[in-house]
Amino acid sequence: MQSRTSFYIGGDWVSPSSDTTYTMISPTTEEAIGIVPEAQNADIDRAVAAARSAFDDPTGWSTWTAEKRGEVIERFADTLQARVPEIARAISSQNGMPLQISEGFEQLFPPMLLRYYAGLATAQDPEERRSSVFGDITAVRREPIGVVAAIVPWNFPQALAFLKIAPALAAGCTIVHKPSPETTLDSYLMAEAAIEAGFPPGVLNVVQGGREVGAYLVAHPGVDKVSFTGSTAAGRSIGAVCGRLIRPVTLELGGKSAAILLDDADIAGNLESFFQATLLNNGQTCNIATRIIAPRSRYDEIVETLSSFVSALPIGDPLDPATVVGPLVSQRQFDRVEGYIAQGIAQGARLTTGGGRPHGLDRGYFIAPTIFADVDNTYTIAQEEIFGPVLSVIPYCTDDEAVRIANESPYGLGGSVWSADPERAMQVARRVQTGTIGINGYINDLHAPSGGVKSSGLGSELGPEGLSSYQQLKSIYRAP
Ligand code: NAD
Repeated sequence: MQSRTSFYIGGDWVSPSSDTTYTMISPTTEEAIGIVPEAQNADIDRAVAAARSAFDDPTGWSTWTAEKRGEVIERFADTLQARVPEIARAISSQNGMPLQISEGFEQLFPPMLLRYYAGLATAQDPEERRSSVFGDITAVRREPIGVVAAIVPWNFPQALAFLKIAPALAAGCTIVHKPSPETTLDSYLMAEAAIEAGFPPGVLNVVQGGREVGAYLVAHPGVDKVSFTGSTAAGRSIGAVCGRLIRPVTLELGGKSAAILLDDADIAGNLESFFQATLLNNGQTCNIATRIIAPRSRYDEIVETLSSFVSALPIGDPLDPATVVGPLVSQRQFDRVEGYIAQGIAQGARLTTGGGRPHGLDRGYFIAPTIFADVDNTYTIAQEEIFGPVLSVIPYCTDDEAVRIANESPYGLGGSVWSADPERAMQVARRVQTGTIGINGYINDLHAPSGGVKSSGLGSELGPEGLSSYQQLKSIYRAP
């Protein structure tokens, strides 16, 4: 049982304003594994004040060259990297992510993002000179946007946090980071790494708390930009607050993406990539495709291939390196996924495998990978985000119909197209209404923007666009 008693604010560990705490529950054993303080509004006030004074310091972080900031950011990448085994275990024990993923992704991605954005900011010209229509020169400056409120969910707690922290730091912003209550232990390791890296006080602050304190942070007068990843419901309310305040906001929200299998797709030969693109992290990944749009001409064969593949996946303790499918994060998520499975059956979908707790796993929030066949795209399980290991296989006859079904969704976040002919797949991918899409696989590219359309969000992360969203443009005209 781990116990933490402070927040990382103003470059140091500080005592909470109250003695309210959270107990962290293992999704594998359902036993308590940690206890951490729960922030109150006074703690957020303190963290925002620290970030504000670090940002407003006339010789501080925001005024340094990108190169000078980059030296500290590079050290942060090193100090984080030194903690990777510890961070990966902390994540897997809290959210049920198989260690294979936390070690392979969660631990590698943050240092990579820090180094990428430090390099990108250093290479950028902070003040571009343009010829003025009045015959002189106009300076177009990229300035850091200010104090950033970064709020993330529990499913990829470190990678999602660093999609915000890395570009914001490189741009010269200061940050108040609020992790999700389900995953707080790893955020303490992040803070320890920041202390060792030697950031000036207040540049990065980490405050653990729930949705109310998150809402308080979003509306705080000392915050200049909000960067949120989480559910569409929370995103809508955060977007409304930011709209009222005319406060810049990036929203990375939910999804219900489609994997379109063209009639020449070799799924049996690509099952590993297919798993990454549809079931990664126990189905608790925002941009995976959980609607499988399959050609009628091969429908039975595809349902059979997928059902026998997922029913053989090793399921169990996420800390066991052999585990491919772990438990869901919480009792709440377990109940929610069970509820969707019941709705699928009630609406007439055909369950081919899974459908509930796997045999022999009597405790922990485990749901066996589940396939529904004969799903109509209007069914609740095809329209709403389930966030669990549940796939719906929807039949189609023509490529046009496949695209229409993919686009008949309130969301537009990820997706994939599978074909023996990548050029044909590209043509289909161009027609899907989504922020990102893969051909014969799905892996986010560091160099390309990633974001959602429709109810999946506003704005982008990753790529140079991810850096721009923490910068503000200013034009300085000079009279001739
Ligand atoms: P959630 O929206 O309940 O919570 C996310 C975070 O926001 C938590 O830290 C929470 O405490 C905080 N929060 C909740 N309501 C808030 C409010 N009104 N104001 C301020 N903060 C608030 O989401 P969740 O259940 O933790 O995560 C799962 C969701 O996240 C899924 O919908 C998933 O698709 C989405 N997600 C999206 C992406 C993406 O990049 N688009 C990535 C991962 C997860």
